[in-house]
Amino acid sequence: MGRSIRLTCNDCKQSYDLNIGQGRSDNKLDRVLAHFDGQTADLISEKLSLLGEDAYWNYRSMIGYCKVCGSYSSIPTLTIKDNGKDYVTAGKCGCGGTVELIDNNDQTRMNDLRCPKCQSKMTVETTGMWD
Ligand SMILES: [Zn+2]
Ligand SMILES: [Zn+2]
Repeated sequence: MGRSIRLTCNDCKQSYDLNIGQGRSDNKLDRVLAHFDGQTADLISEKLSLLGEDAYWNYRSMIGYCKVCGSYSSIPTLTIKDNGKDYVTAGKCGCGGTVELIDNNDQTRMNDLRCPKCQSKMTVETTGMWD
């Protein structure tokens, strides 16, 4: 199950609603590929077909911060294990910008999320679950 969270700026009250984690159908490859644009999905399929049937992959939606448009959004990510190394493919921001991925399990990073508008600290709250 995934988690819905809200980031709210302590100062200007700007807020972002995000869905992170993985849903029930996110263990099926065709469903997972649909989270990415066509070109990215093709690259993922190619990499997985090279690795063969037993390729290990894991999908989750992460918090992404886009420096281009200055906003937070939910970003699809796929981790593929190859020879003990992790290859992470991430989706882009809605504006087409490349995002900085933020791991919600990284407490230090989560405690220091800044508002893109005024640079004040943001409070993180869980608003629900999704699947
Ligand atoms: Zn703010
Ligand atoms: Zn953007």
